Amino acid sequence: MTTSNCSCCSHATTPQKQENVNGKADNDQLVISSDPEHPANLICELCRMFYNNGWVTGTGGGISIREGNNIFVAPSGVQKERMVPENMFVMDLEKQEYLRRPEIYKPSACTPLFLSAYTMRNAGACIHTHSQNAVMVSLLFDKVFEISSIEQIKALPKIVEPGNLWYSDKLVIPIIENTEKEEDLTDSLQEAIREYPGATAVLVRRHGIYVWGETVWKAKIYNEAIDYLLEIALKMKQFNIPTVKPK
Ligand SMILES: [Zn+2]
Repeated sequence: MTTSNCSCCSHATTPQKQENVNGKADNDQLVISSDPEHPANLICELCRMFYNNGWVTGTGGGISIREGNNIFVAPSGVQKERMVPENMFVMDLEKQEYLRRPEIYKPSACTPLFLSAYTMRNAGACIHTHSQNAVMVSLLFDKVFEISSIEQIKALPKIVEPGNLWYSDKLVIPIIENTEKEEDLTDSLQEAIREYPGATAVLVRRHGIYVWGETVWKAKIYNEAIDYLLEIALKMKQFNIPTVKPK
């Protein structure tokens, strides 16, 4: 049986509810499903995929999916490649209250940032990675990352009007400053969302990136396309090629 430390005197105690040792909690039916497209299953699948890409390593980064009014969020501190549906937190978006909260885990510090994408952009999913390409770009650009005239830009939405960007359009992603605690990024992330209505992502200097989309699959496509563009921008910089092509 697993033990934990008593908060008042630091001696080991036995958890009262054995079922919580494995991350189980009330409302298990919210996260246990044989449907591979269920948000709790998709978060586990995507966490493994992103771990293998080096985007979420050492428990950093996170993924959240919205299904109706329910927000699914992976917990803090769990190794991304070992995530299981029972680990998931579920929150009521409107009331911003937990419907399911596994007692042995801490909620992700990314949660208020994910909520910003849901409430301000009506996102269906939000991805946070510690991609090295994102970190490096945040060191080479000042207030915004800009790139144009690269075919991959066409994978990204205009947001302010229907449809996607064209090849020669300029992709603009704001860069905000990092803070000691992840949740303290919330105000500046919200400010960037307001200031850049066409953005579907925000870079965090020396930290990583937040990307959101209308659905989990769109968020995944945007994240992959943006990471490709960040990587190619770093290579262009090495050859002194401007990332925005003069018209
Ligand atoms: Zn982070």
